[in-house]
Amino acid sequence: MHARLARLTGPAPRHEDLVPERALRMAEAHPYDPWALVRAAEVMARAGRRDAAIGQLEKAVWLFDLDPPSARIALRQLAALDADWRDRQVVQVHVYADESIRSQSGWRFRLRTVLARVSVALGQILDVRFVPIWIGGFLSEQVPNDLDAIDGALARSIRRERGPGIHAGFTERPLPHRSGRLKKGLAQLLGRQMIVRLEPGEFQSRVLAHEILHLYGAMHVVKDLDSLMNPTGDSMQLDRPSARVVRAMRRRVFLTGDPRRDVLPHIDLTEAIAAYEAVLAVNLNFRRMGLQAAFRTRRTSRYQAADEARVAVGMDTHLADVLDIVAALLRADRRPAEALILLDAAARLYGSETARGRETSAAAESLRRWLLGVYRVSEDPRRPSGR
Ligand SMILES: [Zn+2]
Repeated sequence: MHARLARLTGPAPRHEDLVPERALRMAEAHPYDPWALVRAAEVMARAGRRDAAIGQLEKAVWLFDLDPPSARIALRQLAALDADWRDRQVVQVHVYADESIRSQSGWRFRLRTVLARVSVALGQILDVRFVPIWIGGFLSEQVPNDLDAIDGALARSIRRERGPGIHAGFTERPLPHRSGRLKKGLAQLLGRQMIVRLEPGEFQSRVLAHEILHLYGAMHVVKDLDSLMNPTGDSMQLDRPSARVVRAMRRRVFLTGDPRRDVLPHIDLTEAIAAYEAVLAVNLNFRRMGLQAAFRTRRTSRYQAADEARVAVGMDTHLADVLDIVAALLRADRRPAEALILLDAAARLYGSETARGRETSAAAESLRRWLLGVYRVSEDPRRPSGR
């Protein structure tokens, strides 16, 4: 409906000297033109109709990609009119839709709404408005229907369309049958690229909320926990330790995709490290409880107990990503010795057969050499210490 109405009404003719009645009439006649909406909102605000003005301005923000300069004016006016908008972070999103999404009429409006709804759903935790700075296509038909392959196709499109902001890909290719373990979303921890599989007709996506939280540093805490950070289940609540991590990262930016540049300079290091310590402590506690349960199971079945124990201590590359990030936080906080322990652990979890594992192991090695050099210098009595 929105798409059809937008086509019917089109953009308003540009007049700079608008009398108030004409500005209001224009926004009514061209309700999908952010420029006209902003002009009408100015008139409404001057007439004391604050709520009506806010409504028009929020609509201009919803339509951000159609006219970014007007939408930016709308954001400034919202901050002036509404205290809720004053502290809100605004994050640009480059939206990429594959053929399965673009084959449906009104798909751009659908994705604008998906972003608006996820901003509201995460409002209590993040207070960020994700706005579409650009909405376009990418091609996924030629690659297999698993998210790693589709994510690769997305990465090849992004090279042509860079710029600050999140790069979010959307697909609606149906999950293959018997695909219980196949991923519905993929995001780089504290990076800026992600891909989300939408369900048919979906306008509000839990998977999108979950992946956005990965961009803000949240990890999978525990499998059985009722939380947005549990990859399975349907909880829209975020567990408290994850909420603390995400809040600590709230002021991160999306410029390079490299956490060392996009995250570290913009956050409170002490709080971020403490938040991760808390979240890792919960994770460790649940592993201990799992081991205790496995120990009890041993009385009835050794095989089942072995299985349970494996699940309880099983570590994966996701945990390695987290350790790598915490190591970077510790180094920035001048705690290199602790960072080294985590880097070594991350390298082991990635495994020496992977590129990421070899990279991390080389980083640990160079940090180790640097640390040894520092100690040697300070232990040499002929040199001044503390250099
Ligand atoms: Zn996840």
